[in-house]
Amino acid sequence: MLDRFGRNIDYLRVSVTDRCNLRCVYCLPAEGIQLKQHQDMLSYEELERVIRVFTEFGIKRVRVTGGEPLVRRGIIPFLAKVVAMKGVEDVAITTNGVLLEAAAPDLWNAGVRRLNISLDTLKPERFREITRFGDLNRVRQGIDKVLSLGFGPVKLNVVLLRGTNDDEVGDFARWTREVPLHIRFIELMPLGEGHLWSASRFVSAGEIKDRLATEFTLNRVSEVYGGGPARYYQIPGGKGTIGFITAMSQHFCQFCNRVRLTADGKINPCLASPLEVDLATPMRSGASDGELRELIRMAVLIKPAEHHLESDAQVTLRQMSKIGG
Ligand code: SAM
Repeated sequence: MLDRFGRNIDYLRVSVTDRCNLRCVYCLPAEGIQLKQHQDMLSYEELERVIRVFTEFGIKRVRVTGGEPLVRRGIIPFLAKVVAMKGVEDVAITTNGVLLEAAAPDLWNAGVRRLNISLDTLKPERFREITRFGDLNRVRQGIDKVLSLGFGPVKLNVVLLRGTNDDEVGDFARWTREVPLHIRFIELMPLGEGHLWSASRFVSAGEIKDRLATEFTLNRVSEVYGGGPARYYQIPGGKGTIGFITAMSQHFCQFCNRVRLTADGKINPCLASPLEVDLATPMRSGASDGELRELIRMAVLIKPAEHHLESDAQVTLRQMSKIGG
């Protein structure tokens, strides 16, 4: 479906839970998180219904995220159903990788092939600091497992934090010589806890690219499958690629093809906007598919032209874990 600005919205990101088994410092507070009640979350049947109605608008690609999607019970059969859904051509998940090693064979059997794994450091002690208690080893084992099973493309999301992990960008880049990983450096956004951090910790992807270019030859390569906003480069002979996502320094809103569905059933047409359209309440009051279609149409039509994250204090308190980062 085309929005008011002629963008073809064909990509739905579905948050299946607001729960996460990590507490990354730039994403969530250590404690005091207001979690939704279980009954406020859409059931898998409700999620399937919404995704099916979305496919009638030309949504072809679905990314399942959270919170941490792998902590929700029953996630594998749900993914298998979405993979099999008419009109859905591509299903991917975004995960922190903690539960990935054990889940990988089931994900494969469910038909999932594409994964994004969030990993901000290759140093165990630092990983514990950033995630507050995570075990890097588990994520590394998860990555090894999915690569050995043949998942691909496997993308790694690295959020850049000045003074915390920006000294590791060379190590990440070097890794792509040996393994078919697509490492994407992502600019910190002033969302969730990120709004406390972003001013002092922000590093632009451009700065990192310039820094890497002094050490490596970086050849521009065409898009890695997935249709996201990263620009990719490759070290000659490398198996993987290095991508840069400039959400803040050079936003790509004019190409934005996505809308989000929160775990409690709200359509969020823009990550960086407080606008949302509630589907859960009408659905639970007996709304027909036709009525849901109208609400979805409305959500697409209110999608803003671009974000104003630099200046919009209204949205900065929203957590990525709630919106489905
Ligand atoms: N639990 C899953 C994971 O870790 O990938 C999915 C949800 S997590 C919120 C999705 C992504 O959002 C992660 O890559 C995380 O690093 C990123 N993220 C969270 N807060 C952010 C912020 N303020 N700026 C940029 N990225 C952020």
